[in-house]
Amino acid sequence: MAEPKENPLMEKIVSLCKRRGFIYQSSEIYGGINGFWDYGPLGAELKRNVKELWWNTMTRQRDDVVGLEATIIMSPEIWKASGHVDTFADMMVECPLTNKRFRADQVEPQSGTALFFESALEVSAALKNIKETLAIAAESGRQENIVASWPNIHADEAKAKSLIEKSGLSNHDIEEIEDRYRRTYPEHDSRSRGNFSRSFAVLIKSGENSGSAYKRAEEFYKKQGLLGVLFLAPARTVEVINSREFNPENGVKLTEPRPFNLMFKTYVGPVESEDNVAYLRPETAQAIFAQFKNVLDSSRVKVPFGIAQIGKAFRNEVTPRNFTFRSREFEQMELEFFIKPDEAVEAISGSVVSVSQLSTLNPQPTWGWEAWHKYWVEERIKFYEGIGLPRTTLVEYWQKPEELAHYARATVDILFRFPFSKRDEKGELMGEELEGIAARSDFDLSQHERFSGKPMGVFDDELRAAWAKLDEAKKAELSKRYFEARLKYLTKTGVEQAKAEKEAKEDAEGLAKGQYIPHVIEPSAGVDRLILALICNAYYEDQMPDEKGKMETRVVMKFHPRVAPIKVGVLPLLKNKPPLVEKALAVRDLLRPHMNVFYDDAGAIGRRYRRQDEAGTPFCVTIDFDTLGEKGPELQDTVTLRYRDDGKQDRVKISDLLPLLLEKIR
Ligand code: ATP
Repeated sequence: MAEPKENPLMEKIVSLCKRRGFIYQSSEIYGGINGFWDYGPLGAELKRNVKELWWNTMTRQRDDVVGLEATIIMSPEIWKASGHVDTFADMMVECPLTNKRFRADQVEPQSGTALFFESALEVSAALKNIKETLAIAAESGRQENIVASWPNIHADEAKAKSLIEKSGLSNHDIEEIEDRYRRTYPEHDSRSRGNFSRSFAVLIKSGENSGSAYKRAEEFYKKQGLLGVLFLAPARTVEVINSREFNPENGVKLTEPRPFNLMFKTYVGPVESEDNVAYLRPETAQAIFAQFKNVLDSSRVKVPFGIAQIGKAFRNEVTPRNFTFRSREFEQMELEFFIKPDEAVEAISGSVVSVSQLSTLNPQPTWGWEAWHKYWVEERIKFYEGIGLPRTTLVEYWQKPEELAHYARATVDILFRFPFSKRDEKGELMGEELEGIAARSDFDLSQHERFSGKPMGVFDDELRAAWAKLDEAKKAELSKRYFEARLKYLTKTGVEQAKAEKEAKEDAEGLAKGQYIPHVIEPSAGVDRLILALICNAYYEDQMPDEKGKMETRVVMKFHPRVAPIKVGVLPLLKNKPPLVEKALAVRDLLRPHMNVFYDDAGAIGRRYRRQDEAGTPFCVTIDFDTLGEKGPELQDTVTLRYRDDGKQDRVKISDLLPLLLEKIR
């Protein structure tokens, strides 16, 4: 994806986040630290609400999911088993001029003419090569080249004359070159170090002056230690279309991609040696696999069941960007949902229901991995809709076969259409990943079984009983399929053929006895990306009358009441009228045990409403003289309930307030 272009909406959002205390740059007083963000008072509440809603939906509201909270630093063996030590790398490219690094797949494609230089020549050496100098200069038609070697031409005037003629330069050109030479190199240093070979290329966009390319090349070669005036002539020029090989900021050709491991390394204990290396976890999921057996043995769960975890993850991203979207420290909400292999489902239920036959999304014993995967995609989309992200802002992206990890059977990414997302040909925002839902087969537990030497399989009574009743043909068919699946896993992970066959055979025999390694469906979401999506989705500017009825632009954060950082603002009409204040404090205390209340008595009531609109507070309760019964007993102990989105107001009895608000925020 491209580097973010200037995006006026994002600029407004980032500025509101800072101004209102949603998100600040980490360590800002020291100039900040790239890829790290802090959540201010409103952001912290928003984040807490989101995590709590996820936790409630995924664990407490279900019988089949339990929670876990594991450490951030774990045995480094875990990351060997998971493949992160060997393969958790992004391909990285570097600009040889500025040393800035980019993720190779995220460089914005560029088109234009690329000038490839193979070497640079210092001026006094160029003197010896005056013929070539002029010939190449003439060929390329670049006067800049001749500027650099101009003094040499003067030094060898007789020979130069014919060369100049050959080059086709007019007198006017020559005058111009002389003039430019004097201005460009007033303190010409004629030390010679000769010819310096090293490739360097610069892309010039159409309409751009080639002079900038020569300037970059000169900077580059001087950085390598060349002195004085350089003679530069491109060895070739190439037309380039949509190439990711050039730095979008200066056109310089980037280095060849090389892998860069994203894990943060540290040392455990006082000795900084290779034996003590540990990693900050790059995902929360692996702890779930590592503790799978403990959870199974210590809680009353049976496959299918899940283990959920929320926690920090760390990735040394090459190019953090798009505000908090790609950070180096972030939080994840992950579920590992363990299911029976399809062969076990078929043995028990007689068949595995296909996705096209799914008549309900209530889990059934006939569900294999495909149905469970579909189920979790739907559940997760429902979750997002339930916290205020309309279906139209989300995209369900099914990864193509070539995009899948080798062990994954299917992965759906749920994307949100961020303002900084790229647009398709119809001009619609394409979206960026909020969550990935992967069907990961039995890869993870199998890896930990192999690396730790501890069994990760489960024993399933139901399967054992069902297997005994199968006819021989069915047994043979299911055994064969299971054997083949296990063999594929083992050989893909490098187990030598004979050993793999032996192990796969044992696994298939185990299945007949009711044993298997559970498969897993993994919905893995990022908290920070979701917070950013909620903020982007909530941001509105509209027109509302001020206190005098004059229309003004207001900024309003239309958070769903479930996630809103403050649920209700309690506002006494005047702060210097003790009966109003007393009543308002009583309302605050009535609501406070049940929701986040903000008490505000400062300034005009209209200003106070606007402040709450910007904070995204869905309701405001105003205590006025009617509340005190000054207009008559029928209004006594009623308050104004004001709705954020349309500014409408209702008169509500204080005694009705709590149930009414609770219903709206749950
Ligand atoms: P991406 O392709 O965007 O780097 P990923 O596919 O590597 O993401 P996963 O490893 O599947 O991401 O992580 C699961 C979730 O964790 C992502 O969907 C995202 O919400 C979140 N996440 C991953 N990396 C980051 C990051 N650098 N900053 C913020 N959130 C992240």
